[in-house]
Amino acid sequence: MLRFRRQYGNAPVSIKSLNTKQLEYFFEQLWKQTLNPIWVCKVVPDDFEMVSANEAAFRVDPNQKPGVLVSEVIRMGGHDNEILAGYYTCLETGDVVEFEQRPWVNGKEYLFRTLLVPIKNTQGRVTHIWGTAHNLTDFLDPQKELLAINEILEQRVKERTEQLNDALKKLEILSTTDELTGLANRRFLDENLTRAVLRVHRTKEPLAVLFIDIDDFKLFNDEFGHSIGDYCLKQVAATLLSLDRREDDVVARYGGEEFMILLPNCSSSDAMRIAEQVRHAVERLELNPDNTTNKPSHVTISVGVAVSGTLRFTSDELLKEADDALYAAKAAGRNQCILREL
Ligand code: GH3
Ligand code: MG
Ligand code: MG
Repeated sequence: MLRFRRQYGNAPVSIKSLNTKQLEYFFEQLWKQTLNPIWVCKVVPDDFEMVSANEAAFRVDPNQKPGVLVSEVIRMGGHDNEILAGYYTCLETGDVVEFEQRPWVNGKEYLFRTLLVPIKNTQGRVTHIWGTAHNLTDFLDPQKELLAINEILEQRVKERTEQLNDALKKLEILSTTDELTGLANRRFLDENLTRAVLRVHRTKEPLAVLFIDIDDFKLFNDEFGHSIGDYCLKQVAATLLSLDRREDDVVARYGGEEFMILLPNCSSSDAMRIAEQVRHAVERLELNPDNTTNKPSHVTISVGVAVSGTLRFTSDELLKEADDALYAAKAAGRNQCILREL
């Protein structure tokens, strides 16, 4: 797209200190020796006609012969058609017009900053247009090189940003996941519990918490060894995860052999039903993967269930209730679920 820039309109330049002969002499040197193309054309009906062009102009485009129309030069040279619009702007406004041209000559791209200067008669009518162009082609390759480098850099930045985002995502997952079982960790649970309690204060829906503890796990470890103990923890975790769950439910390892399930919008009866389901599922687990001993290896769990009512409560109060319920289940002989309502 061509952009025309008008400038120097009626600039107060005085050449009166030079006489005609000096002017002619200086001008001739400029015409012959400058490396910038210079040409003059005449305003003719519906076009402009080349009057003269210097050597530098011929080198760029040999079509600029005297008598040839500018529209022809543009057509023959395959130049941008909008250049002609530049001539018309110069003619109609009587101002200097400046724009960039990128002609292809003999398979090479050039970059020119072209100036069209109106030459007016004594009545102020534009009769001729004086054209000159600064050859900026030498800047073209470095400019392209810079653009290419810029593109590569942008691509690298994009790749690095993606890598960083991936790493952040992994870190986020790591920081909220329990390493051994792959369940949510305590931190994730605490954050979700806080949010869930706040939501309950708005919605008044019941919030249930299942506090799960493996019974006599110390004995299990002593009997079968720590690595089967770890295997057991993973199996129990997988069992808890395999239950039908809703999107907002959180299954977390609370620490050691303790787990917690957060059940938003869950009634006491549903919470107890789920707790019993978990208890049965864990009881049925076969936990001696390598048959290292002939002894049957099973574990049971005790579950403390706490469910919120209509009174306001804090997450600590809910956890305390679940902990009390769990303690009662242990005291009552383990392998059972006990409910406490707030
Ligand atoms: P209770 O029925 O009263 O809960 O008895 P318990 O033996 O399960 O409870 P206690 O708190 O005495 O022991 C918990 C055991 O859990 C002791 C500890 O070695 C074991 N444990 C905790 N974390 C891990 C773990 O990551 N891997 C293994 N293998 N054992 C663990
Ligand atoms: Mg415990
Ligand atoms: Mg225990």
